[in-house]
Amino acid sequence: MKNILVIGGAGYIGSHTVRALAKRGYNPVVFDNLSKGHREAVKNFPFEQGDLQDKKRLSEVFKKHRIEAVMHFAAFIEVGESVQNPAKYYQNNTAGVLNLLQALIENQIPYFVFSSTAAIFGEPVREKIDETHPQHPINPYGNSKLMVEKMLADFDVAYGLKSTALRYFNASGADDSGEIGESHSPETHLIPLILQTAIGKRKSIKIFGTDYPTADGTCIRDYVHVNDLARAHILALEKMEKDKVSERFNLGSGNGYSVAELIAKAKEITGVDFAVEQAPRRAGDPAVLVADATKAKRVLGWQPEYDLTRIIQTAWNWEQHRKY
Ligand code: UDP
Repeated sequence: MKNILVIGGAGYIGSHTVRALAKRGYNPVVFDNLSKGHREAVKNFPFEQGDLQDKKRLSEVFKKHRIEAVMHFAAFIEVGESVQNPAKYYQNNTAGVLNLLQALIENQIPYFVFSSTAAIFGEPVREKIDETHPQHPINPYGNSKLMVEKMLADFDVAYGLKSTALRYFNASGADDSGEIGESHSPETHLIPLILQTAIGKRKSIKIFGTDYPTADGTCIRDYVHVNDLARAHILALEKMEKDKVSERFNLGSGNGYSVAELIAKAKEITGVDFAVEQAPRRAGDPAVLVADATKAKRVLGWQPEYDLTRIIQTAWNWEQHRKY
């Protein structure tokens, strides 16, 4: 297997995975509608503009590039927006993927890797979240992704489509080259917002909630480097091709860091004592979200290689030299 279609390949995690695929000897083809993605992020790769809602266009691209497997990254990802506008999320993240899955079956493409999320679990009932944790999303974003996971299970039984769903915790960092990195509009993620404050693009960073039941009162998250996630996609693909089974994995470092700890670390790495404000809690934020990624380690041999320091260093390097 060589020819991999990367839908949403011009986005943040997609573009890092495209590079990882090429390094590993695959021929990635990028498919993106550029509503959020950046053409510049994948300028050296074959590119097809299109929308996953357009089955005819998908089939055309599958045939043209003799696609053998599909990785899917194209999704809306803002929890708050999903509460305000759930239709947008169900249309793209759920109905769009249903359309894509039908196109896969019609074109007899047997392998699918799906970007899922820790948001499918909802409020944690134990300290670390493994694959057996109950799944009760607390927002439409999580629902839109969990519905696809359910479809994937049914589609394996009925049509033999093999899939791997990868539930990311907090994707972060940038490629070591500094050539690609995170660029969302609007930016809502903690690390880029902190670094944009350090560089002077923003006046201050707001801490959303200082009264959580954690050691310092701020939320704890599990930050995992985007290149570690990219590598997990390739391991998942190779495992799926070898064993012909569908799987689901939680992907995180297993280490939790609080918002206050991240800010302190970023001050140390950047050498800038930027302004920090306390702000009310953000709706829909659980106090603690940390992965138990033992299954990914055991089954895929996957282990994160980047620690928090390198995550912030690579993100800082990107922030200082960003091209888009
Ligand atoms: N956060 C914050 N200030 C910000 C943005 C985020 O305190 O300006 C907090 C947020 O409440 C959460 C953590 O940082 O506890 C990570 O948020 P992010 O949006 O980066 O990722 P999420 O956990 O929502 O996927």
